[in-house]
Order: sequence, then structure tokens, then C-alpha cells
Amino acid sequence: MTKAILASFLFAASLAAAQDDAVTLRAGTLIDGKGGVTRDAVIVIEGSRIARIGGEPKGTLHDLSQLTVLPGLIDTHVHISSHFGKDGRYTNAGETPAQFILYAVENAYKTLMAGFTTVQSIGAPQDLDLRDAIARGIVPGPRILASIRPANENTGTPEQIRAFVRTVAEEGADLIKIFASKSIREGGGQTLTDEQIQAGCDEARKLGLRSWVHAHAASAMKAAALAGCTAVTHGSQGTDEVFALMAERGTYFEPNIGLVSQNYLEHKARYFGIGNYTEEGFTFMETNIPRKLDMYQRAMEHEKLKLLMGTDATAGAHGRNAEEIIYRIEKAGQKPLDAIAGSTSLAAEALGLGDEVGTIAPGMQADIIAVEGNPLVDATALRRIAFVMKGGKIFLK
Ligand SMILES: [Zn+2]
Repeated sequence: MTKAILASFLFAASLAAAQDDAVTLRAGTLIDGKGGVTRDAVIVIEGSRIARIGGEPKGTLHDLSQLTVLPGLIDTHVHISSHFGKDGRYTNAGETPAQFILYAVENAYKTLMAGFTTVQSIGAPQDLDLRDAIARGIVPGPRILASIRPANENTGTPEQIRAFVRTVAEEGADLIKIFASKSIREGGGQTLTDEQIQAGCDEARKLGLRSWVHAHAASAMKAAALAGCTAVTHGSQGTDEVFALMAERGTYFEPNIGLVSQNYLEHKARYFGIGNYTEEGFTFMETNIPRKLDMYQRAMEHEKLKLLMGTDATAGAHGRNAEEIIYRIEKAGQKPLDAIAGSTSLAAEALGLGDEVGTIAPGMQADIIAVEGNPLVDATALRRIAFVMKGGKIFLK
């Protein structure tokens, strides 16, 4: 699917569902997603889009004057269908396809109610049907971009990786996920050769798709930056040399420091004993939490490095996505407006949706949320979602 077709597909449903009448939001504080903050703002929405900021209210008025209004949040890395099964464990044993997808629907709903109006799911094959059902407007959930399945060390030679990219693109993927290093539970070492990484990202680019590279090892991150891949995710072993290179090459960086490992540890009994969720794996994750915090603080020193907000949310983490933003502000000391940009305008740009979502401005999709309190003063305000609008349609108020 081409980008243009995909874009119209994603937004057609919300257009149809949106109220024809104008709606006005009165915002106590407005954070526009691009660094702007205004008090007592008026936002006028017509159909699915923002018509104007300021001027006289028009149509139905929603008073959000006691709240802080922000663009709908974006998480660039979730596993939307990942869930605990019937026995409460991280296994889908004995589950029917219908049961599986209904758990995914539940995750999508929780995510939307948590203020996330767009997510990138990287990803399971079932994400595609969920994406399409949400876009049709029959299931409440965030806009979803999906990678379907990843390329990894078993995909084959560079030529075979190119063929894989073409196949997944034909199946309707919005991006290509490439596993270039081991899981952190297995040490994170590079698994694909530099040539394989180049082949994957180059073929994706030729097809107009973005490439998202899972890499812990600094060598794999470096190869991804040199290959012109869109983004590196995780990056727990990133060095200053690699951060400088990524900043120079414009490679987006999406570390996950505040939710994913913490969530595994919180739900250890549900994950333990499955695949690489071993005692050793848990030890790796636990010792990595402070290391990742240190890595993030070093990454922040590279001013031009484009830091995206992705959680890598799996079972147990859906609906708590904002914890990553809160952690970045409270623990890593990131400026609130920068952390928020990483989950709004910058994230939208990295998803190729910078002209559609992630910013509150005329012409943009009306993806707007409101929180109790002000996240610029108290980051935990992002836990208190009081209003959610997606494509001009209100899902929570
Ligand atoms: Zn992931």
C-alpha cells in the first residue's frame, strides 16, 4: 500500500464518524506539541480537523478551562496484541483467534483511554486487522501503524531480506521492523551483519516505507545509522560516539527506559519460565534499569539527537504508556516540553504523519486530550486523563 492510500485509509473512517457541527474546546492551558504554551485558548474543530485556534467559540462548547490540553499522545513502540492469557500467564495456550483479538481490542481501548490516539505496533500479524477495524470506526482505539512481522537473523541473506521486505509491504505493513541484535535478556549482541541491515533499510526506503531497527549493541546501532534506517529502538548499550553519529545522520532514537523492564519485573510470575524470561533474563533486565537511565541522560546531552517516546508496551503495560514520559521527566531530568514533544510532534514526524497529528494547529486532525493538572509542573498529570478526542470524535469526557 502506498503512503498516500494508507493515509486516506487511516483517516477516512474518522472523517465519516466525526460530527459535522463545529465543536469548541476552551482550554485552561494549551500545550501545542511543538513547544508552544498558551493560557485560556479556544480551539474550534470542524468535522475531523482543527479549524482555528482563537476567535469566537462556534458550535457545541466543551469547557476544559480547569484542565491542560495537549495533542493526543503517540507511542512509537507498542505490542498492542500482547496480553496475559486465560491462566493469567504470558501465553496464548488454548486461546481461539477470536479470544486473541478481543484481548487486543481491550488493549487498544485502554491505550486510547490513557490519552494515546496513535501508536505504532511492532508487532504481530493480528495487528493489521485491529488497525483496520479501528480505522473503520467500529472499535475504539488509537490509530495503529503496524509492522506485521520482523526480519531477523533467520530471514536469510541480504537478497532474502530484500524479498522479505517486499512481501511484508505487499501484506500491508506500514513500516519494516528489523531485529539487528539479541534481546536484552540474552545480552543484546549484534545478530545481523551490517550488509543485512543495509539491505533491509534500503529496500524499505525504495518502497517508501520506514525502517525501525531493534538494536542494543552499539555496533548494530551504528550500522543502522550508517544504513539510513529511520529509527533505532532500545539502544541500551549506546555510546556517545553512536549518539553523535545518529544525531548527525538524523536517525531517530527510541529508547525505552521507564515502563517495559519495570512492567516485566512487576509481573514476573506471569512471564517467568516462558522463552527467555528466565532468572538470568530477569537479572539482566533489573540491572539494566539504572544503566538505561544513565544511557538516556548521556543521549540527552546530544542536542540534535531526536529522542522519541516509545514504551515497548507488552502485556501488563497497556494503558500505562505515559509512565515512560513521566519517568523521563522525573528520573532522567528531561525538560517536560521536550519529553512531550517526543510523544507528540516529533513522534508524528518519525511516523510520517507530521502533517496530520501530533500538533494542535489549524488543519491538523483533531486528536486532542486534556489532563487534570499541568504536566509542565507535575508530570504525573499525564496519568489523569479527563478528555480524549480522536479525529474530532469524543471518546472520553
Ligand atoms: Zn518491542
